[in-house]
Amino acid sequence: MNSILKKRRSTSQIIAVLGLIALSSLSGTARAEQPFSFDTTPGKLPKIAVPTHYSIELAPDLQALTAEGSEVVDIEVRETTWRLELNAANLAIAEASIDDGAQRAEIALDPKAETATLTFPTALAKGPHRLRLAFTAKINPFGRGLFFADYPTEAGSKRMISTQLEPADARRIFPCWDEPAFKATFALTVTVPQDFLAVSNMPIAKEEPLADGRKRVVFPPTPKMSSYLFVLSAGELERITADAGGVTVGIVTTKGKAEKGRFALENAAKLLAWYNDYFGSKYPLPKLDLIAVPGGFGGAMENWGGITFFESRLLFDPATTPDSARRRIFSVLAHEMAHQWFGDLVTTAWWDNLWLNEGFASWMQEKAAEQFYPQWKSWLNGYNQKQLALSLDARRTSHPIQQPVADHSVAMTAFDPITYNKGQAFIRMLENYLGEDAFRDGIRHFMAAHAYSNATTADLWQALERATGKQVSAIAGSFTEQEGVPLLIAETVCDGEAQRLTLKQERFTIIPSQANASLPPLKWQVPVTTGKIGAREPQKLLLDGSAEIAAGKCGDAVKVNFSDIGYYRVEYGERLRAALTKQLAQMTPEDRVNFLADDWAMVQAGRAEPASYLGLADTLQANDARAVWDQVLNIFGALDRLARERPEQPALEAYARAKLRPVLDRLGWDGSGAGDDDDTLLRASLISTLGDLRDPDTVNEARRRFAAFLNDPKSLSPALREAVTRVVGVSARREDYDALLVLARKSTETNERVRYYYAAASARDGALAQDTLALTLTKELPSTLVNGLINEVAASGWHRELAWEFVQKNLAALTARQGPDFPHEFVPNFMTNFSDEAHAEALKNFAPAQETLGGRVMTSRALEAIAISADLKARALPAIDAWIKAHPAKP
Ligand SMILES: [Zn+2]
Repeated sequence: MNSILKKRRSTSQIIAVLGLIALSSLSGTARAEQPFSFDTTPGKLPKIAVPTHYSIELAPDLQALTAEGSEVVDIEVRETTWRLELNAANLAIAEASIDDGAQRAEIALDPKAETATLTFPTALAKGPHRLRLAFTAKINPFGRGLFFADYPTEAGSKRMISTQLEPADARRIFPCWDEPAFKATFALTVTVPQDFLAVSNMPIAKEEPLADGRKRVVFPPTPKMSSYLFVLSAGELERITADAGGVTVGIVTTKGKAEKGRFALENAAKLLAWYNDYFGSKYPLPKLDLIAVPGGFGGAMENWGGITFFESRLLFDPATTPDSARRRIFSVLAHEMAHQWFGDLVTTAWWDNLWLNEGFASWMQEKAAEQFYPQWKSWLNGYNQKQLALSLDARRTSHPIQQPVADHSVAMTAFDPITYNKGQAFIRMLENYLGEDAFRDGIRHFMAAHAYSNATTADLWQALERATGKQVSAIAGSFTEQEGVPLLIAETVCDGEAQRLTLKQERFTIIPSQANASLPPLKWQVPVTTGKIGAREPQKLLLDGSAEIAAGKCGDAVKVNFSDIGYYRVEYGERLRAALTKQLAQMTPEDRVNFLADDWAMVQAGRAEPASYLGLADTLQANDARAVWDQVLNIFGALDRLARERPEQPALEAYARAKLRPVLDRLGWDGSGAGDDDDTLLRASLISTLGDLRDPDTVNEARRRFAAFLNDPKSLSPALREAVTRVVGVSARREDYDALLVLARKSTETNERVRYYYAAASARDGALAQDTLALTLTKELPSTLVNGLINEVAASGWHRELAWEFVQKNLAALTARQGPDFPHEFVPNFMTNFSDEAHAEALKNFAPAQETLGGRVMTSRALEAIAISADLKARALPAIDAWIKAHPAKP
């Protein structure tokens, strides 16, 4: 699953959107995990009976927003029982009987546990039985279970339905054993209007018209799979297809948009062939549909054979979308397609191993991009994914990527940057350590051994050990079974002409100084790379504790974490840091980004003064790589938001403008080129950030170009539209705001609607912010955008309080619309827009966030994030102010 609707890439925003989620962790106690076994897999349901096949009939009513359903489930009773317990949430179950009506069950629903207990008059004997159920499900306005999405067309508003079931919402559509280890085959028959196209995991077997203007669409059984991978989408849809080695790849969209899926279609066909080879087992379904859903949910989901995407994550229209959007589309596509193997064919046994699905798919998305589009430099430009994980993982509320998951509110909290991004970074480091080919061989063994079944992390290590002959579990355990970030303290000493490098290991932590506490020490086995600046190949070593190694000639600048492949922080001693700083410009961009990011992390951790980082950033050249400037932009952006309503802000903004303007001036506003090169992307980020920093020239130029665009849309290239629109949004007066809303309302393109609504929501003017908040309660906006827009109003820091009052006042209405997770997922995330004690208290006292286990986890993470921001604000801003006064930017 890919659940983040990213609008801006700044760290703090992504944190705010995702939230800061944690379990109190089992510090230091490595829990050696066992290979997969069905009987010992955690879960809530008793394993007395297991389903083998579901035959499901659904008849959704798109007006009444209900679906009548019935199902026949073939089950295997493993020991004699009167009782069957399975999952059901928000379902009405009218009838349950067994073995062709031989017995009728008494039905007891437990809404809290989301279960249905069926009690039979006579015990069911061990062996196969057939369970029949009749039920009614709800069609939701939010993306859980079966949901609807209303979308604008030239012919007025239309409605389609789709599903989103991970981790545990199949139970909202039909009663089922809704845990990933209960794999079964699923055969669906659905009744829909005759002009609808219905899409599910398998291709349509047949369609039968009914007299009432509807039709029955019959799908053949799926292979054995977990319930959360079931999919149904239906509406006035169209489909284009391509053949990929005997598998039909399809793009499914609302009418008139399928051609915009051409880029995804071509790449899906290429990826399918490449993955078939990489995984060593052929994609097992006859077709793979990529389904664009114009609302209802914001991410992408790897349903087997029918991947769903929020529309703008899949479709590409060169007339309105920047070329660079292809990078995001490819990345999500490669991620979800990797899940067809890692997740769907072989499934994590329980949600404590979710990282295995997500870390792997997140790693594969970058690996595939490097394979097909090396010019995108995906690892370099995606450097911030790891940085985000490193910063969250340094906190008290971090959690091991393998973590106990008590219930589904906690499972939801596992979809976080630690699971995804630390998992991704760790797998990359491990592949680098084991070697690319050996690692792939291990993956092939793993796939072959667990196909159509489940696996644990231990199974993966076993497969890799068998293929590589190297010890994996001990290294891996220290990164997956315990939380936290290794810190390597590196220094050089001269030994005559020669030089030696000493490496010591500690735990890297970011703890608010007012917390006055420390975290228990931890140890890792760290695969370390080191290299002299300019060297092609790094030296590799496995660091267990500390080490001292030969490191060239006295005075050589030796960089640790060469090429930024490792998951750890490095603190350089004075001597080595000075040598490296002198050679900053000679480093590769990967090493420069890594050096800057580690340096800033030392400031965050209170191990270095801000002057250290500012001094480094001061030496960067205007023509440096995009990723390097992106690192600096992110820090300036975060500091600027932190400095709202503080006396330091004007000087800070002036300084940031003076540093960034020369970079934009070098690029100019009108670059040539294909439009998806790094210069084009950097230009757009700079315009957007300089707009936030109130750079008058940038604001004026953006406004001038926007006015021209209103007269002649072709005058503004798609590559600049997002940034220009945003600058206009931030600086909007009433007439600009109205113009943005007119554009949003008249567009039928999801990417454009998202762009204009977000730009409007970023307005600095209070009355306009008020209007945006009011808009989120209307039907005009798809529910997908509501949380993001409320957050956008708050995120700039100007209207946090207004947005918070709005959320409290309208909590019931927002929860009804956005789903039951709103109070305990959205609210704690949202509160990380604040950095003061009063709002920390307000969150502590906000009872609705505390109602679930997951909500309490989210709250404790958010409270820590607020405290860390408060600390940085108090500690760093005055020091930065003093530094800026002593080092005025050269004009
Ligand atoms: Zn995923």
